[in-house]
Amino acid sequence: MTSPDARTDLVGLLPEEAEQAIAAHFQERGQPRYRAKQVLGWLYERGAADFEAMSDLPRAERDALAERFAFTSPAVAKLSRSVDGTTKHLWRLDDGELIESVLIPTSSRLTLCISSQAGCAMACAFCATGWAGYRRQLTAGEIVSQFRGARAWARDNGYGEITNIVYMGMGEPLMNRKAVFPSLAILNRGYGLGARRITVSTVGVVPGILEMAAMPEQYRLAVSLHAPNHELRQRIIPLEKKHSIDELMEALRKFDEAGGKRITFEYVMIQGVTDDAALADELADRIREFNAFVNLIPFNPIPGTDWKPSSRARLNYFVERLEARGISAFVRESRGSDIAAACGQLRAEATEGRKPVQITPGSTMKARPGREAAAGD
Ligand code: SAH
Repeated sequence: MTSPDARTDLVGLLPEEAEQAIAAHFQERGQPRYRAKQVLGWLYERGAADFEAMSDLPRAERDALAERFAFTSPAVAKLSRSVDGTTKHLWRLDDGELIESVLIPTSSRLTLCISSQAGCAMACAFCATGWAGYRRQLTAGEIVSQFRGARAWARDNGYGEITNIVYMGMGEPLMNRKAVFPSLAILNRGYGLGARRITVSTVGVVPGILEMAAMPEQYRLAVSLHAPNHELRQRIIPLEKKHSIDELMEALRKFDEAGGKRITFEYVMIQGVTDDAALADELADRIREFNAFVNLIPFNPIPGTDWKPSSRARLNYFVERLEARGISAFVRESRGSDIAAACGQLRAEATEGRKPVQITPGSTMKARPGREAAAGD
């Protein structure tokens, strides 16, 4: 008998790999071909949590599958629901690591924001995940299982089907390409989410952007720019020292030239830090060459800094100034801030087993856990 650890995780396989593995398994057992289709239907469409749920398969076949294959299915450690309907899942992975995903309903969409790493090594000065440091990479199965778990919850709670996915939870997706790229293919080809409904958000990991440019699918790219020049950007984003804004722009040019993939720029509005009116003009000049738009994100306060979000008047003025220079800009309204589910607030807080992170108020540029790891990609 196969030990549980040697079983293949179905959730982390590409759809064609899963199909092949299951078909081969049934062939060995002398089972009809349609059995593989049944299992795939349960896996992708119906969202079975395990083989036991696959009620149209004979008992012996369910048992045989369970000996050979497994389903990554993280446990729900905590569920928080905001007054605005935004719902955050805190997932506990097999080794005890904690990650978060957030369901964000609007009138026309149901967006799921997922994590790509446990923690994050990028250490951006304004982000709570960055303050908490890096823990480990997620597997493709762990990334996809956030979707599976959130989808099941959404179906059971009258939220309907997930229409869009954004890799804007914990972690830097392009620092975990080995798992993130397969997860894109699984969500797209396995679960049937259109590539243009899947957005990868990056702080500017140039090699990853170039790899995405070469993909035939039109996955969307969001770039966390947050500053229009090297001096300001390196003060708030350590990665700027490795991949400068000029190098980033060059990579985005290649992404743009690959065609059909619209870029979104994200820009966090921190009072007195990133919201000077002159910066709006500089930003517009920087990105004019792209068919892009800007999402202005009012800074969501996090423990450890005394920064404040820009005033409403300043946000509107920034938008006007960008539009006057021909750039479409929107203010992204914060959702779920009452449950710490808004951008940059994900910290996977849990009660047991984790040391509190030491944060000195105001000192945004001190060495922090995970800082060293930010160097490699
Ligand atoms: N690592 C990826 C994705 C995770 S963060 C990235 O950097 O894009 C998702 C978005 O939230 C990013 O644009 C990030 O810069 C932004 N963000 C982080 N902390 C924030 C905060 N405190 N307030 C507002 N936005 C924040």
